[in-house]
Amino acid sequence: MKNLNRPVWQLKKELAEGTLTSRELVEAYLQRIEEVNPTLNAYLYVAREEALAAAEACDAARCSGESLGPLHGIPVALKDNMSVKGMQNTCASRFLEGYVAPYDATIVEKLKAAGAIVLGKLNMDEFAMGSANEFSAYGPVKNPWDLTRVPGGSSGGSAAAVAGGLAPVSLGTDTGGSVRQPAAFTNLVGLKPTYGRISRYGITAFGSTLDQVGIFSQDVRDCSLMLQVLAGLDPKDSTSADQPLPEELSGKAPSLEGVRLALPKRFLEGLEDPMKQQLNAAVNTFESLGACVDLVDLQMVPHSLAVYYIVASAEASSNLARFDGIRYGQRNLGDGTMKDLYVQSRTQGFGEEVRRRIMLGTYVLSAGYYDAYYNTALKVRTLIREEFQRLFASYDAIIGPTTPTLPRRLGERPDNCVLEYLNDLYTVPANIAGIPAIAFPMGFVDGLPVSCQLMGNYFSERRLFELVQAFEEKTDYTEKKAEELL
Ligand code: GLN
Repeated sequence: MKNLNRPVWQLKKELAEGTLTSRELVEAYLQRIEEVNPTLNAYLYVAREEALAAAEACDAARCSGESLGPLHGIPVALKDNMSVKGMQNTCASRFLEGYVAPYDATIVEKLKAAGAIVLGKLNMDEFAMGSANEFSAYGPVKNPWDLTRVPGGSSGGSAAAVAGGLAPVSLGTDTGGSVRQPAAFTNLVGLKPTYGRISRYGITAFGSTLDQVGIFSQDVRDCSLMLQVLAGLDPKDSTSADQPLPEELSGKAPSLEGVRLALPKRFLEGLEDPMKQQLNAAVNTFESLGACVDLVDLQMVPHSLAVYYIVASAEASSNLARFDGIRYGQRNLGDGTMKDLYVQSRTQGFGEEVRRRIMLGTYVLSAGYYDAYYNTALKVRTLIREEFQRLFASYDAIIGPTTPTLPRRLGERPDNCVLEYLNDLYTVPANIAGIPAIAFPMGFVDGLPVSCQLMGNYFSERRLFELVQAFEEKTDYTEKKAEELL
């Protein structure tokens, strides 16, 4: 089957009309994975047998006139930190090599209930820490747009799988940008919903006050369809929110007459020229659609990156304490003492970046430094939230770039890790405040995709979708696919 880069809404139509069966679709993806995955390294586990069996069940149900739900027969691929019963869940760490999840995450239950088929588990930075997918214990992922470049991280496998035509849609997690940044580097739509919008039960925690499940899709319509299926209150996740589900997009985008967008001046500083030109063009497009765009000053939001690396590391050091050599995965008995069991298991199980975050987090939480770092970061976090709230009193959304640069080449990680952390400059504010943010294609520089980001007020995903839908109708960036480059 040629052209696997078709959005889910289109595949749904073909399945419903009977011009395609779910078995054919799954087989085509499995074949593509076989051909292309050795190059991209996007999948860590391909659920061949499980997916074929599920596809047959879907086809049989359809034949007998039964509808399984909005994703009936649609394959979906998941980041390898999301529990699917009976499948590995390594978080791309040696620590969890061989670990098999004993139950389904709530999102997996929801996907299955909607008729979706799990195609496999995707590569990532170890425990979701990183921006290039080079911190995976199972090798880096390549960017389908340029195989010498990184796909972004930490959900690099989720991005490469969809951009390379190895899955029609995928899920990742976004703690500081890990869905939006790789979506930006691979010309996809990437959504980080409002904190609490989607249940995190069954997903390996990194930063519990920041983590959200996010969606990688080929266009915004698919993104809205997926959010419908995944969102909602879950008694098993006390941070999940009881809010009405954002309606799925249909038909044409509404007029943007009267829409107000804020463009923070600080977001333009330090942005490379060609990226700035693309952003200006995107702003002009929104203006031509009737939106009004104002330059605004932000005092506190620019501190988000510093706050993020304190809060995220502190929470990681606490969350990863459960990997102690006793309960899960890697165990190394060492010299036979309890202490050495912890030390050896953790030293050998965790990679360099994860150890760095744990050390940093332990430091900022330690008695002598707690006030100076962690407590101060929490205070600044409150000020950042308040600044966003003031802005959303007069604006529908904040517009800016998703990343400060194009994807760098594989193996060219800067020696100073702080320079790598700058990748997250524009994405972390949304996690710090807990607001929704969406990344979407806004053009190309040197043949590589560049991405625009919109951030909105709490639970305003539907509004963000409409804005992106209007932009997609006016431009054709989303339709450009990397598949034929491979
Ligand atoms: N790149 C960021 C980090 O390394 C974000 C990670 C994420 O969102 N999971 O922490």
